[in-house]
Amino acid sequence: MMLLPKYFRFACGFGSLVFALLAICPLATLAFEGHIVSSRSGEETKTAAAVVNPLIECPYSLLMDETNTVLQPGKPVYDKYTVAERKVRNLPTTLPIVQPYYAEKTVYLTFDDGPDPENTPIILDILRQHGIKATFFVVGAQVEQYPHILKRIFEEGHAIGNHSYNHIYSQLYQSAHTYIKQLQQTDDIIKNVIGVRPRISRAPGGSAGSFTKEYWKTLEQDGYVEVGWNISSGDASSAKAQQIVDNVIRQMQNKSLWNHAIVLMHDGRGHGETVKALPHIITYFKERGFEFRVVNLETPPAW
Ligand SMILES: [Zn+2]
Repeated sequence: MMLLPKYFRFACGFGSLVFALLAICPLATLAFEGHIVSSRSGEETKTAAAVVNPLIECPYSLLMDETNTVLQPGKPVYDKYTVAERKVRNLPTTLPIVQPYYAEKTVYLTFDDGPDPENTPIILDILRQHGIKATFFVVGAQVEQYPHILKRIFEEGHAIGNHSYNHIYSQLYQSAHTYIKQLQQTDDIIKNVIGVRPRISRAPGGSAGSFTKEYWKTLEQDGYVEVGWNISSGDASSAKAQQIVDNVIRQMQNKSLWNHAIVLMHDGRGHGETVKALPHIITYFKERGFEFRVVNLETPPAW
């Protein structure tokens, strides 16, 4: 059991690398195929299988260091380098341009302020029972306390986003500089736990009223996607579960949001009512044939 995640991550990373090589270099494709065809020994056959199979199952996509491209549509996107590491290596820090994903009915369930020792594991259990993936915007200080929960989110194939280091508005929003500093501090903490860092982020309290042009410019230069929401579950107040469900259903009457419904919820401390509401919210979307997706570079802007 102990060896599995380590082996999996290695196989996954190696698989992604080979995939990138195959995608960008036809000569490499020929060479690689030649290798498989010509392999006869048991050892080499085993190597080829280890490369191909984990690629199909790989739960996330990695921004490659040299090409800066997204490899697998629909998967969470991570980066093996931090902004500082990219700058040192002269690699691009800005993000590649990706075609936004619009389908008739698409929903993104998002949870802010965790990981939390009480709520997050139950939410992960519920998501697993329903066979769906969601997105967690985590706070750096919480990750420091509960790294094992972050690891579980990652290993179960959900997307992870950056939600600042301490969520304290007076410190966070002093300037674009203090904001980006907290994002990078959180990136480092996340990377220490899962080996990669997110490229998506969500401003605590939302960007409206807090961001100036300078913030947007800095985020673009350093390659973060700011992710808003268009369906608020209203779970930040003292709302009861039924009210949270009703809030979501009421806002879903706006059919223009059906092709990219981004639902804001919280898995932080004290959000037990959100946990209770979640199965009903999932059922609502399932019964109407929505596709559940994780937030990545293909996710359209909320508004
Ligand atoms: Zn928050």
